[in-house]
Amino acid sequence: MTVSVTGATGFIGTRLVQRLHADNHNVCVLTRSKSKAETIFPVKNFPGIVIAEEAGWKDCIEGSNAVVNLAGMPISTRWSPEIKKEIKESRIRVTSKVVDLINSSPQGVRPTVLVSATAVGYYGTSETQVFNENSPSGNDYLAEVCREWEGTALKVDKDVRLALIRIGVVLGKDGGALAKMIPLFMMFAGGPLGSGQQWFSWIHLDDIVNLIYEALSNPSYKGVINGTAPNPVRLSEMCNQLGNVLGRPSWLPVPDFALKAVLGEGASVVCSLFPYTSIKHMQLRFNIYCLCRFWRDKKWFLQKLRNW
Ligand code: NDP
Repeated sequence: MTVSVTGATGFIGTRLVQRLHADNHNVCVLTRSKSKAETIFPVKNFPGIVIAEEAGWKDCIEGSNAVVNLAGMPISTRWSPEIKKEIKESRIRVTSKVVDLINSSPQGVRPTVLVSATAVGYYGTSETQVFNENSPSGNDYLAEVCREWEGTALKVDKDVRLALIRIGVVLGKDGGALAKMIPLFMMFAGGPLGSGQQWFSWIHLDDIVNLIYEALSNPSYKGVINGTAPNPVRLSEMCNQLGNVLGRPSWLPVPDFALKAVLGEGASVVCSLFPYTSIKHMQLRFNIYCLCRFWRDKKWFLQKLRNW
């Protein structure tokens, strides 16, 4: 099978391309930057992979059996009005281009499958409601982004099988949400936010890659599919687990300015923020950190003091 992938250089896309390549499928990496893609997929490790900037997307898509659409500006940055605009427009721009190229491909060489990313942000947030694929869309900014993003993908011709994957928070080493959360925990600044009762709909990186991979060839993958683990957890449970694994406490609520400094307004993806903004809070955490460090490594600490 030949598969064209937008957003192939990202967190999910990189793993997907590795998987497709390992299974001897032909892959076209549709990117904005050939040099960036060549660093991620060097020819010596990925012989046969085609890397195309926008001018070459048409040829790639025309020769593909399937297209996976993952591109979009990361949402976990600090949000300004310009960035919010680009978060939405980048997704609509790329999806629109992909759909136009598929629809205008001559019959016989056109892809028969489009697997397009969207997010569980479609549903908005609730501490009490359970959402499934038939639930209505929420009314916040991310829900609006997802609605328009999906609406653009739905313009693909009806003879092309469309799988819209509403992805939850993807957890995997070296990227995504964990790469943002782990430094907070390592600095003793991790912990549940507010009540900690907010739902955290997650999925492991390998599982979302397997889901996309399966959707490429399995005709029953059609329409909207939630790309999440069957067991979402409350945020407090997620933080406890992460704290245990990292050997860090997770019982102090995270101040919103610390979280916003790292995640920006995109922190709202994970949960609503605890309304506590005080530098004293951070100082307290730092003091606790010093005490813990001293407790755990007394010899190291005393040695440092002596040398000093
Ligand atoms: P990444 O942010 O890691 O990668 C996205 C890719 O999109 C980049 O590698 C880049 O590819 C391209 N891109 C970035 N900015 C722009 C832009 N301004 N205009 C056009 N293209 C851009 O995303 P993930 O791999 O984490 O996620 C893939 C998709 O799944 C995304 O659309 C994301 O919103 C969605 N999703 C992800 C979740 C997660 O937890 N990771 C959760 C829910 C949804 P290049 O530079 O090669 O063009």
